[in-house]
Amino acid sequence: MKSITKHYIDGAFVESHGREVMDSINPTNGQVIAHVTLGDEEDARRAIAAAKQAFASFSRTTKEERMKVLRRLHRAVSARTDELTKAMVEEYGGVLRFVAPIVQAGAEVFLSAERALCEMPLTRSWGNTMVTLEPVGVAGLISPWNANAFFLCMKLASAVAAGCTVVMKPSELSASQTHVWLECVHEAKLPIGLCNVVSGRGEVVGAELVRNPDVAKISFTGSAAVGRSIMREGASTMKRITLELGGKSPNILLDDADLKKAIPNAFIIGFLNNGQACVAGTRLLVPKSRFEEVKQAILDTLPTFPVGDPADPKTAVGPMVNQKQYQRVQSYIRKGIEEGAEVLAGGEGHPPGLESGYFVKPTVFVNVKNDMTIAREEIFGPVLSVITYEDEDDAVRIANDSEYGLHAYVSGTDIQRARRVASQIQAGRVAINGLLDDQQAPFGGFKHSGIGREFGTFGIGAFLEPRAILE
Ligand code: NAD
Repeated sequence: MKSITKHYIDGAFVESHGREVMDSINPTNGQVIAHVTLGDEEDARRAIAAAKQAFASFSRTTKEERMKVLRRLHRAVSARTDELTKAMVEEYGGVLRFVAPIVQAGAEVFLSAERALCEMPLTRSWGNTMVTLEPVGVAGLISPWNANAFFLCMKLASAVAAGCTVVMKPSELSASQTHVWLECVHEAKLPIGLCNVVSGRGEVVGAELVRNPDVAKISFTGSAAVGRSIMREGASTMKRITLELGGKSPNILLDDADLKKAIPNAFIIGFLNNGQACVAGTRLLVPKSRFEEVKQAILDTLPTFPVGDPADPKTAVGPMVNQKQYQRVQSYIRKGIEEGAEVLAGGEGHPPGLESGYFVKPTVFVNVKNDMTIAREEIFGPVLSVITYEDEDDAVRIANDSEYGLHAYVSGTDIQRARRVASQIQAGRVAINGLLDDQQAPFGGFKHSGIGREFGTFGIGAFLEPRAILE
């Protein structure tokens, strides 16, 4: 049994001041895999003090010096991708086929940030005026449990590129992956105090970061409810805030879509990370004229997305992160049935033979109306809602009829038409014909999906403050 008792403060692993011990449970079988000692406000304050001290010198580093740090981080994380992958599969049940590439993407993000920083002008001048982009200060980086190692890499990369020092507060459900990741950070031999990490509860360690006047910026990824509370609490110290929140992403199948590709893609997108992905395309918008055909294609394709052991490379859907999340998904499935949606596949309960973990049945609802709860709220599980539309305008209307606006997907063979539809969607990203990523493209949400953007120059800009000097 592992015991994780330390945080990373001022360049060293230090014993937790906080004494609360939490069991870390493997969601695949319900077994305890580690005892985790959670940090408290005092741990957070020590980490903030270390970051504050380091900021004095790191904020004055040149682009080249920061680029060097980013390259070291890339090397250090790249060297441990197998261990990171293993920890994530075990800790939150992410399936190998998702986790392995996302860990790789986490390592790559340091090089993407390096490239963005290299291209980004940090000084502009005209006449007798000079504008420089200055690091905003100590940044508090708060991340969720779903693929946390990736979020740690992404947030640290942008903050370092901008010249900020950080205190990171990963989800308390991701202590094992955080621990492996921290060993990489230590290996990278960063300037002392640049990166500090305190594991602990959001309402304890996270809240201290949000309230502390020595933290200038919060970059948060997580639920909309917590995002809203961070905005409120951060106001009194005028925090700069980036919020990456939830989604209810539409996936529009245009009537010329090739179902042989579009339906497997709809499952890849809908069941991404066991459905526990902010960008999951959970509303499948289908032309009425092709509804019967789509239904058949769904039934034919679903067996190729098996649920089971996340460590098995053939598995497409693993367990939910914990019992609470399992119950939450069950309650949404019940709600869908109560509100009149029809279960085409899946439904309540565990899949047969998988009763000992937090597995749910991958579920597809048809005859869903966009005002039903399952079409409006983020379920965070493998539950797909099929909604029919009349014509292109109707599809765009339904897609945009959501309080969220993080991501959207469009599938069709006429690419001009797909682009035209994409350009009308209120979402931070729209992917045409599949699940796509570009680490230089901005990532973030319209509406309740958040504020601000991550990745590339947009992500670095979120940690900078312009200063104009006029002579
Ligand atoms: P969560 O909001 O419960 O927790 C996220 C983080 O915030 C955790 O580290 C948690 O400890 C911390 N936290 C909780 N209360 C806090 C408080 N009062 N002050 C400061 N910090 C606090 O979310 P979760 O369950 O860990 O993650 C799932 C959610 O994250 C989903 O809604 C999902 O859509 C969202 N998410 C968004 C993105 C994105 O990029 N937009 C990516 C992944 C996940």
